[in-house]
Amino acid sequence: MLPRALVRRVIHPLHEVLRGRPTNRFLRLYAAHDRLSTAELQVRHDELLVALLQHAAARVPYYRERVAEIRAASDLARFPVLDKSAVRAAGDGLKATGFRGALIPLATGGSSGEPLRFFSDQQREASQLAAKARGRAWFGVHPGMRETDLWGSPIEAAAYSGLRRCAAWALGWRLLPAFQLNAQTMAGFRSVLGGGRTDLLYGYASALARYARFLAERNERFAPGELKLVVSTAEVLLPADRAVIEERLAAPLANEFGCRDGGLIAHGCPRGTLHLMHDAVHVELLDDAGCPVPYGSEGEVVVTNLHARGYPLIRYRTGDRAAFGSPCNCGLPHPVLASVAGRMTDSVRKRDGTRVHGLALIYMLRDVPGVQRFRCIQRADLSLDVAVEVGPGCAREDVQARLAGGVAQVLGPELPLRVAFVNGFEPLPSGKHRYIVCEAVDDAPVRS
Ligand SMILES: [Zn+2]
Repeated sequence: MLPRALVRRVIHPLHEVLRGRPTNRFLRLYAAHDRLSTAELQVRHDELLVALLQHAAARVPYYRERVAEIRAASDLARFPVLDKSAVRAAGDGLKATGFRGALIPLATGGSSGEPLRFFSDQQREASQLAAKARGRAWFGVHPGMRETDLWGSPIEAAAYSGLRRCAAWALGWRLLPAFQLNAQTMAGFRSVLGGGRTDLLYGYASALARYARFLAERNERFAPGELKLVVSTAEVLLPADRAVIEERLAAPLANEFGCRDGGLIAHGCPRGTLHLMHDAVHVELLDDAGCPVPYGSEGEVVVTNLHARGYPLIRYRTGDRAAFGSPCNCGLPHPVLASVAGRMTDSVRKRDGTRVHGLALIYMLRDVPGVQRFRCIQRADLSLDVAVEVGPGCAREDVQARLAGGVAQVLGPELPLRVAFVNGFEPLPSGKHRYIVCEAVDDAPVRS
């Protein structure tokens, strides 16, 4: 492994330059912003928002048709709120004309059941990477420290080869699969994570909790300081999960809140408070009618990335819910989210008892041509009911065959699968948008 200081001062900055991302500039900018007062940061925030709105009104066809004459941050209210179907309908109309940089195609994980394809650009990517690094710097963890991600869709794992593998080695970054957690795989984690081989462990909240409970069952725990920081992401961090992770991994636990399409929205501070990335995103909390909720009430998180220029998504509905909170006394100038009641992603179970992260199914379903929305329910007998809504002219036999192959790949070929073609979905009784639901408990009887 390369010395941390060499990676922080030379390898990481060079890597970002070679990738064409202005990440180093954003790192310096955000470090300076963290030293501002709340009022000073608000001024910077409003300047960034106005610049974005003026760019959109002048250069982006979708917005040029709808808004004009941007003078103040309050002009944001004249922009339409976007949901996924509005983004799909707008299509190339959201591409800025004359944009010189490259547009980077991205897709959401689809944990809401409605995958979305959209575009990012190098500046947006850099702003997000730097925002993530800044949240970690609040805990004394900097680029160059060794990171292990408990993560990985099958797609990402397959892409983790060749040059990327070299870059990951040089940057001190490793990947442990979160999709196949069982006693055998988790028993091997310590050799990667322990003894100072990893400074930062990053992963899905449910996967981290599962590993912590595995340690608890074996009466094992990490020594204090063995890990410097654990960051949980992508899912709601439940209090019971936080407790077992902190106890068994013996490191501070920061929660990260964001989404693929909205970017990093908030990051936990050492006091455990979620701070908005107020110079990277603008966040509104809206009710179903699109009006701001009263302070302290829960509303849908509607996000505007302040640095996106190639394909700006302004006032984008994330599907997650949160409330604003009272200021934190840690000294950071960023506003606070009191709670996040986002979507939950269940894991599903293989016949041998292995738990597989729900995102493994989501990634598979998302990539079946023609599938627009879906819901996957694993019953107590481990059989699967997959309901899908498909686009017009889509060959159902092809979808059925792709699903059968995909499910067999993720969960093994032996689990019964029922596919239903539906027109729209009713919300679940809980009201939560859960598109992977597991009714099978770990000791459920298994139909043979
Ligand atoms: Zn704080």
